[in-house]
Amino acid sequence: MRSGYFAYLATAAVIALPTSVQAAPVAPFSFDTAYGRLPKTLIPIDYSVSITPNAADRTLTGSESIVLEFRHPSATIIFNSLNEVLRDVRLDGKPVKAVASSDEQQLTTVTLDSAATAGRHTLTFSYSGKIESGPRGMFAQPYVKPDGDNGLLIQTKFESTDARRMFPCWDEPAFRSTFQISVTVPAEAAVVSNMPVARRVVHDALATTTFLRTPKMPTYLVELSAGDLARITAHTDGVEIGIWAVRGQEKQGAEALANAQQILADYDDYFGYKYPLPKLDSIAVPGGQPGAMENWGAIAYNDQLLLLSPLSTILNHQTVYSVQAHEMAHQWNGDLVTMGWWDDIWLNESFASWRAAEETDLRNPGWRWWEGEDASKETAMSADARITSHAIQQHVTDELQVTNAFDKAITYNKGEAVLRMLEGYLGPATFRKGVRAFIRAHAYSNATSTDLWNALSAASGRNVGEISADWIEQPGFPLVAVSATCDAAGKRTLALSQQRFLLQGADSRPSHWAVPLQIRSGAAGAPQAVLLQQDGQTFKAGRCDQALTLNAGALGYFRVAYDAATLQTNAAQFGTLPDPDRIALLDDQWALVQAGRQELARYLALASSMGSDLDERAWMQISAALETLEYAERGKSSHDAYIAYAFSIFQPVAARLGWDSRPDESPGTQRLRRTVLVDLGSWGDREVIAEARKRFAAFMADHSAIRPDDQSTVLEIVTRNADAATFEQLHQLARSASNETEQRRYYAALMHVRDPQLAAQAAQIAVSSEIPPQSAAVRLGLVGGLTFENPKLAWATFTANLDMLMLPQGRYAAFITAQLMPETLWDAAPPDEIETWIRAHVPAEMADNVARSMEIVRFKLAQKTSLAQAADSFLSARMASRG
Ligand SMILES: [Zn+2]
Repeated sequence: MRSGYFAYLATAAVIALPTSVQAAPVAPFSFDTAYGRLPKTLIPIDYSVSITPNAADRTLTGSESIVLEFRHPSATIIFNSLNEVLRDVRLDGKPVKAVASSDEQQLTTVTLDSAATAGRHTLTFSYSGKIESGPRGMFAQPYVKPDGDNGLLIQTKFESTDARRMFPCWDEPAFRSTFQISVTVPAEAAVVSNMPVARRVVHDALATTTFLRTPKMPTYLVELSAGDLARITAHTDGVEIGIWAVRGQEKQGAEALANAQQILADYDDYFGYKYPLPKLDSIAVPGGQPGAMENWGAIAYNDQLLLLSPLSTILNHQTVYSVQAHEMAHQWNGDLVTMGWWDDIWLNESFASWRAAEETDLRNPGWRWWEGEDASKETAMSADARITSHAIQQHVTDELQVTNAFDKAITYNKGEAVLRMLEGYLGPATFRKGVRAFIRAHAYSNATSTDLWNALSAASGRNVGEISADWIEQPGFPLVAVSATCDAAGKRTLALSQQRFLLQGADSRPSHWAVPLQIRSGAAGAPQAVLLQQDGQTFKAGRCDQALTLNAGALGYFRVAYDAATLQTNAAQFGTLPDPDRIALLDDQWALVQAGRQELARYLALASSMGSDLDERAWMQISAALETLEYAERGKSSHDAYIAYAFSIFQPVAARLGWDSRPDESPGTQRLRRTVLVDLGSWGDREVIAEARKRFAAFMADHSAIRPDDQSTVLEIVTRNADAATFEQLHQLARSASNETEQRRYYAALMHVRDPQLAAQAAQIAVSSEIPPQSAAVRLGLVGGLTFENPKLAWATFTANLDMLMLPQGRYAAFITAQLMPETLWDAAPPDEIETWIRAHVPAEMADNVARSMEIVRFKLAQKTSLAQAADSFLSARMASRG
């Protein structure tokens, strides 16, 4: 294996790679050349939209008056519409000649008697439309109130192309306009939109509320909520900040309100551009979309991402902060400055993800947030190490398929990692200078990636566009191979080369990256930021007896293969390395094992070298690897020997941590305890199972016996090993919980039961009506939760209930079905059966997504076999060495 490893390095060194592969031409934003289906002959300047939803029969009526700027004389007006019937269509008060709407095209074409002159005209009409059941367009969200009564909220979700479901409009991001929204609902209902209320008129049982005119913005950011909502407010720097929730729950938004004040002040400063709206509301929607949506001035969240109570865990608190930081970053990057077309959706999402991580880390240093974000980077690198992966920037030719571009692993996580790497290379102050210039230059307008690179280039004096093109416009990332030589005085020189890193197979397309390296020699040395541009490039790097990292601070989005001697030095000094450097080494070595390019023993030697260190991310990385190996060993005669080995790694950690958290512990240490105990419990550690059962009994007698943070640990261990009576106890616990946070926790625990008959009951519960309507989006996760112990059952439940599971996912349903579910259910059925079924249940245009997920399914199956073999060799060698 050692010689094979050298052979691999040699291969990597001789491949000559050209620069700028697959670089699609990208230009600065221009309205005229921005991609889109709608003609640019006329531009909407201002909309007045009046909506009357009829929640009972799921219909709406509306009227619009749109001021249009005709750039050229035209006899046709083309805009988007869907499921709407237009009546009394007039231009400047005169009836038009013809109106034709096509739901298939999602377009309405208005024909005039004769061409209207260039200049301003006003288009007016009334219309009727539809209220949706799932989170797209205007939708009705049923929920069960804390007192058991039924409630109904009217809510909107427009990104990417669903504003047209509520009102006919120019529904492409380059068409920015002002909007004056007006809504008529029962007088007792509260209403929220992007802007503060301008006036409210009550007439009989109804009230019409008109909101102030918005600034110029795209349609997908318009927002409207109506229902039995209440709010709490605060003021920061002249902006009214509000948290809305179902009446009675608004006080659970207190922490989110405090977070929002802090984040707003920080972002005003970071972007160097004051938040421009008079108010910023956040709405806790009971259900709706699973995530959150950055509507300008009126951010909508699934309520579980905004509300906190004494029953919430640290993870809940962290989720709320980081999701707020993400959505609020969009108020600048996304809302104030919008991508010109959906190709550049990464500009919105990567940027918001990166900014949110920085802000969360800044304000919560004890959370060690960037270490946790390493897990999201690993998710991206795992997806991106496939031959079927795609570039961050994807050309979207059909706006109706834009959802495919919201591939979380690539669009969010890879983009975040690449921006962090660039920031590290340019330096935070220079990077911020560029971002500020970018925001200032494109405020109330649109931008492309090129605009951002130009701003960063101007700020730094470097050609940022050239560096970033490698990372944005082509898929994948490099494996940088290091070959160190030492001179007589022991000084080290590095020769570096690169090739695309793939977990399986080879890429015949040549590819090359300009790689921003952070080279650190020795555990305490300051890293040196350099750019690897050419193969064979050499760098001086300390002395040969010092540990070496090319990815100091784990800032980089690439992998490193050190030559054997350097790796040995690194392993020997592993315990002294800074945490991020150690994490990067663990990540890379595990990926090389997965790719069949490194011996398992080399990786496991690093795990053994952790010793008494309790760094959470490093141990979480090891936990994931040990879990993967355990799964591969299941059903084999060597399983017991493997478990004995895994115990030898984790039992000392568990012994150090104990069961009870201490007040001075970081959230990371507490999470590490949970991970280690759950692993040990699931691997059959008798003492751990017995202790969990004892604690569970105490919990059933008195729910305050276990802190919310520690409940999942105990519940998961107990459920996994539950008999029928215990399972029923747990089920009763879930059914009787009145708080949604608790309820979700208990139902999630139920899905871990190992016993097949009880698992079948759990599957029935996941798709039953006892899951309240506001938790409908959770059903999918519950079914996914069955996978680890009962994959075939998970597959059967998923395929039998597809429509029910996907309705709450809105427009992401096809993406989830084509890509995420096969990756989760990879061992649930033969791959051909999975592929045939998936292809039959998603639109034909999802073919690339299916190819991606099926590559992962087949890789994971092959890996299961190869890892089991590698583990067996490791275990035999271990037995032999112990005599
Ligand atoms: Zn986002």
